[in-house]
Amino acid sequence: MSSIYVCVTGGVASSLGKGIIASSLAKLLQARVYRVANQKLDPYINIDPGTLNPYEHGECYVTDDGAETDLDLGHYERFTDCPTSQANNITTGRIYQNVINKERRGDFLGKTVQIVPHITDEIKRNIKLLGAKGEYDVVITEIGGTVGDIESLPFLEAVRQLRWELGEKSVLIHLTLVPFLSASGELKTKPTQHSVKSLLEIGVQPDILVLRTEHKLNSDLKRKVALFCNVQPEAVIESIDVDTIYEVPVRMEEEKLDQIVLEKLELPLNSEPDLEGWKKFLYKLNNYEQEVEIGLIGKYVELHDAYKSIAEAFIHAGAVNDCKVNVCWIHSEDINDENIAENLKGLDGILVAPGFGNRGIGGKLSAIKYARENNLPFFGICLGMQMAVIEFARNVLHIEGADSTEMSPKTKHPVIDLMENQKGVTEKGGTMRLGSYKCVLLEGSKAYEAYGQKVVEERHRHRYEFNNEYKEQFEKADMITTGINPDTGLTEIIEIPSHKWFLGTQFHPEYKSTVIKPHPLFVAFAKACLS
Ligand code: GLN
Repeated sequence: MSSIYVCVTGGVASSLGKGIIASSLAKLLQARVYRVANQKLDPYINIDPGTLNPYEHGECYVTDDGAETDLDLGHYERFTDCPTSQANNITTGRIYQNVINKERRGDFLGKTVQIVPHITDEIKRNIKLLGAKGEYDVVITEIGGTVGDIESLPFLEAVRQLRWELGEKSVLIHLTLVPFLSASGELKTKPTQHSVKSLLEIGVQPDILVLRTEHKLNSDLKRKVALFCNVQPEAVIESIDVDTIYEVPVRMEEEKLDQIVLEKLELPLNSEPDLEGWKKFLYKLNNYEQEVEIGLIGKYVELHDAYKSIAEAFIHAGAVNDCKVNVCWIHSEDINDENIAENLKGLDGILVAPGFGNRGIGGKLSAIKYARENNLPFFGICLGMQMAVIEFARNVLHIEGADSTEMSPKTKHPVIDLMENQKGVTEKGGTMRLGSYKCVLLEGSKAYEAYGQKVVEERHRHRYEFNNEYKEQFEKADMITTGINPDTGLTEIIEIPSHKWFLGTQFHPEYKSTVIKPHPLFVAFAKACLS
């Protein structure tokens, strides 16, 4: 069977949760034994979000093949357990880059290169690329941005053309907002009508409308929307606010989103969706026995999206441990040696977040020192692990001025140093050590105990590494390497065995935590915080 395409667009307001709706639909179709891929098209000119400040765009999510991508890809993986790749996230920048490269090669010799058809052709080619592999029955493509934005126009034009070409083999879902006016006590459909009108002006007729709302929508309202927007009343779907994003697939099942999509595509419903594992997780999420307080220390904590995958991994890990993890967001610039005891009071453990550059480093070091000296469970990720190494060097090994060459390029004691193959690198985009690499674990370590296996693969995003010249000195003083890359000898995990739970990873375990497969290190860390 050749692939079927579902496009998801959004209107009225941004941040309505297109990614969650797309992920939920994928989950439901997968639960009916369809092979589904999610894809995100982002209408900005950066080639990828790798060079974007998290304040602009939230977390940068990294795939196995080392693509730096939009955080929605994290949702896709957490919901469906299907690994994503470079092909699952395409930006305007990448589309233009491809077209311009072709032009320079002479592929269009003699022709004027234009948005239509050349840019739109390249967009369609990228949408169809995933389906062409024959690995998926359905490809769900989410178009970033909001209908009416100048930036999204070429993408929507490509969707129009694609639907014309594919006919029955495509469905378009448009997500909008139905605001509630408390003064008059009314739900308003006009913004939805206008948003659909904007789509119609560019020749795109949605098949299904998903309406975000704070209140239940009655059948009159749904019928009215259907009438004005040329869709069937059954295809007007309510998406009411819920406590957790993980409830959305169940709500969408109740609203029959998956059935309507399959009917429109003339595909069999197959079995009832098998959501047993998912519902078990939801039950655990809502019926916990204990709570645990974990401090997340970082410099972007005002914006929780900057640490999206970490926050989600804690939710997964909590459910496994029958507990709720309450994340206490602590700004690394607000803490220091003087106030650290006060700031970490009442916490059962701390996680020091990944990051780049000097800002907030002092606070991270104070927090790590406190956790190490007070037997408070500690989990350091990437920069968090590197800071644990520096703290140990300075305060246990008494190596004065020990530092990372990222923060202090001329340090006499580079316990964290730029990786050898990074030394000639000057371009910033896509040049870090990225993606999945093997890690061999030391038997008897906490990492080994958590994973229950000797060799694991984890995703990376860094330029600096533990300097193995100092390894012996560290190990003699009880900070040991418990995970190592078998090909390069790079230190991937450090631990302090005599501590209750003190572990740092050079890789990012958070990217691989999903509802069905919570990450073993997060599970073990939450457990240590509970005991
Ligand atoms: N800045 C550090 C490095 O490049 C850590 C990166 C990170 O935390 N992702 O090695």
